[in-house]
Amino acid sequence: MRALQLMNWKSDPELVEVPKPIPGPGEVVIKVGAAGACHSDLHLMYEFEAGLLPWNPPFTLGHETSGYVDSIGSGVSEVKVGDAVAVYGPWGCGKCARCKLGIETLCENPMAAPIPGGGGGLGLNGGMADYMLIPHERFLVPIPEGLDVLTAAPLTDAGLTPYHAVRRSWSKMTPDATVVVIGVGGLGHMGVQFVKATSGAKVIAVDMKQEALDLATKVGADYVLLSNEEAVAKIRALTNGLGADVVLDFVGAEATIKMAMASARTFADVTVVGIAGGTFPFNFFSQGYEVSLQTVYWGSKPELVELLNLAGRGLVHAEITTYSLNNAVQAYKDLQAGKVKGRAVIVP
Ligand code: NAD
Ligand code: ZN
Ligand code: ZN
Repeated sequence: MRALQLMNWKSDPELVEVPKPIPGPGEVVIKVGAAGACHSDLHLMYEFEAGLLPWNPPFTLGHETSGYVDSIGSGVSEVKVGDAVAVYGPWGCGKCARCKLGIETLCENPMAAPIPGGGGGLGLNGGMADYMLIPHERFLVPIPEGLDVLTAAPLTDAGLTPYHAVRRSWSKMTPDATVVVIGVGGLGHMGVQFVKATSGAKVIAVDMKQEALDLATKVGADYVLLSNEEAVAKIRALTNGLGADVVLDFVGAEATIKMAMASARTFADVTVVGIAGGTFPFNFFSQGYEVSLQTVYWGSKPELVELLNLAGRGLVHAEITTYSLNNAVQAYKDLQAGKVKGRAVIVP
């Protein structure tokens, strides 16, 4: 079968021929329906130094996958051949306190996980292939009625991560609140929709590209702003001088974190989702009183179940641009060049 693999750090991925996986006891093999291309893969492939993560190439890319159960190993009882499934991507030990709650992103015994601090497409073989091995059936979530396999794939990361970020700040998203979304790409265009679908708050979307702002308007943003030196003043003007109650930064660069903190109202949540590596000098007086600055990492399995339900009912959807597996390298090139609208999804 075909697989798009990262062979070495700091290199382009390569489409190679590998054997089709066979499920061992407790394992499942899925026929991939779709696999999303995440900006994190660009950080992973081209920026990360060897030794930063506890695993190394080669492995198949794709940590945002959906498909159909193709074969099951002995002892698998919750899924059957032919089931349409979404893959819960962060794979923990399954036994610690966090994993028992389905928060495998924060596994406290990563050495007992299928791979420490990773998953399929992150150290182990992922979804950019004809088939993918799933080490345990608990990593599969049924795709609900009303949702297709193609648009379910991006929901497992481009959806799950902003859903988790929005959910974490729900108490601040009152009907009179304003949420600023910085970076309206794969994650950000979902973030806008989660705020609108689950709260009464207004959304101001900020991006460098007009096409991204057009997408933000299409998916429900109340206001859109170009990302420049005037953006903070405009956010203040749109909030009666008060600032935003929640700022979600889907870029995480020096400039965007600075913008996020300068746009925050007192008691605001500023959540850094993007991993561009920007820093912020934080002390008691560097922002309004009681502003929280936090990061988020992916999301929990219960949150994935919730948001698939939301999408199945048509309340949120992923805007996708599809590529064949043979053309997957181009998907990453387009993502790097900022040419993808919504999410690039590889369809084997
Ligand atoms: P993307 O490339 O699809 O979207 C990024 C968007 O940000 C683009 O629309 C781009 O124009 C915009 N942008 C870039 N610089 C900007 C600036 N200075 N001001 C305003 N907008 C700007 O990327 P994505 O796949 O949505 O990922 C976004 C970030 O989130 C990446 O850093 C990725 O690695 C990270 N990520 C984090 C997690 C997590 O768990 N924390 C999960 C997935 C992705
Ligand atoms: Zn990702
Ligand atoms: Zn665990």
